[in-house]
Amino acid sequence: MAEHRTPAALSEEELQRLTGLVADEQPLVAAADDSTPGLEEFCAAAADLIGAEAVVRDDASLDKASVDWAHMSPILSAKLPAGRAEVVLRPTSHEQIPGILALAHRHRVPVTARGKGTGNYGQAIPLRGGVVLDLTGCGRILDAGDGWIRAEAGAKMSDIEAHARSLGQELWMFPSTFGTTVGGFLAGGSGGTGSLLHRTNSEGFVRELTVVPCTGNAEPFTKKGQDALPYIHAYGTSGVIATATVSLQRARDWTGLFAAFDDWAAATAALADLVRLEPAPRLVSLDEAGLVETFQPDPALDPAALSVRAIIETEAEQDAREIVTSHGGRVLEVRAAPEGPALISSLSFNHPTYHLMKAKDGYFHLEISGDALLGDPTAVKKVFPDTLLHLEGMRSGTVGMLMARYEDERHVYEGITALAALGVGVHDPHNWFVDRRIELVRQAARTTDPRGLLNPGKLPAAPTP
Ligand SMILES: Cc1cc2nc3c(=O)[nH]c(=O)nc-3n(C[C@H](O)[C@H](O)[C@H](O)COP(=O)(O)OP(=O)(O)OC[C@H]3O[C@@H](n4cnc5c(N)ncnc54)[C@H](O)[C@@H]3O)c2cc1C
Repeated sequence: MAEHRTPAALSEEELQRLTGLVADEQPLVAAADDSTPGLEEFCAAAADLIGAEAVVRDDASLDKASVDWAHMSPILSAKLPAGRAEVVLRPTSHEQIPGILALAHRHRVPVTARGKGTGNYGQAIPLRGGVVLDLTGCGRILDAGDGWIRAEAGAKMSDIEAHARSLGQELWMFPSTFGTTVGGFLAGGSGGTGSLLHRTNSEGFVRELTVVPCTGNAEPFTKKGQDALPYIHAYGTSGVIATATVSLQRARDWTGLFAAFDDWAAATAALADLVRLEPAPRLVSLDEAGLVETFQPDPALDPAALSVRAIIETEAEQDAREIVTSHGGRVLEVRAAPEGPALISSLSFNHPTYHLMKAKDGYFHLEISGDALLGDPTAVKKVFPDTLLHLEGMRSGTVGMLMARYEDERHVYEGITALAALGVGVHDPHNWFVDRRIELVRQAARTTDPRGLLNPGKLPAAPTP
């Protein structure tokens, strides 16, 4: 097999430069006054269990473990700081998780699991204090076979992809925050590069999860396929994922195509055709010029034009070029792996929002969907002032991000109603509640978290009959 240079072959520094996410940029939070009863006894027992060095209580560590990327939302920002860890535990193997959760249950101490803390809805903020369970030290890749790989929850998606590539395979999908953890991606994320074909992370990507409940004996259990759904995108409220087995496919020879367009209708028509290209691309994205100008300058990105980017199989290059030119676009560059595909992944999903907000103040964003976004965007762009659009092409339909000038919360929610009337679906990223499969998650949590200690404040209470 030809040697594939993949995004996973990039160094840690290159990854951080591409994804742009640096933990130290996150704002700090103020100290909470009330400590959880039983915390001292809990900490002493935890130190006996996993070692005193793994029980961390200095201010800087507590502050860092108490924030995520909720500050991307002006609505959530107004509610920050929203909670502060009282202790951070750093287990070094998934086998240590059950003992910690049994202790938390015994001492009635809240536990918020944490990967890299890059969720952007405040999912990882410990609203009721207590323990933040930092799982980044549980990063081993445990096993792999034909079509699957099993890793500890704290393993980085980039490491899992690199391991899979060494076996001639690759992940079905990974988020644009490529260096984040598999546990965090499954418990807090949705999709990314690869979702064009494989949809979200709750649609077959997860083969099996080992989950630890917060009960008296905290006995881990495994769930396969559909039975794992109550633990996916549940923010750790129904159990802590200790290990995950996820789907792989045969490794492909990817390359990155960068094109420029002058007009939205032509660019979206090309996007729609690229999505249907065979063999299927791994990712197809589109940005307006107003977003491209906020990206790091690159000859493959024209800041004065709409940018369409696709991760395609090398053998499909000629067909992809023809799609671009047939819609009046210009191919600016075809850049080989790992740089080309890695750059395209790093500019996908919520990353254009990140770049815009870094460059300019006063914006908010919404996650949008629907084919109403193709063709003429005039009505959609009229809903909010200074709207900018980023799209991701999927075989299951178009999704994307809408960024616009922030006025106030009321205007955001009025705008969401107006977008719905235009046939644009909106997922609201301005609240930290679990908002998918809520009843399934609640049902699971009744037995896995009878004392309501897992990431409390995130699972909305069941409506009273
Ligand atoms: C600029 C930007 C771009 C992004 N792009 C994408 C994208 O392309 N696709 C996407 O899906 N998301 C995206 N996100 C959101 C986020 O980065 C990803 O979902 C990421 O994979 C989360 O991983 P993490 O390790 O940072 O998890 P964290 O943020 O630490 O955790 C996320 C949630 O999962 C819970 N959790 C963490 N580990 C576990 C565990 N082992 N068991 C149970 N619960 C756990 C946490 O309590 C929290 O509720 C983006 C965010 C930003 C800021």
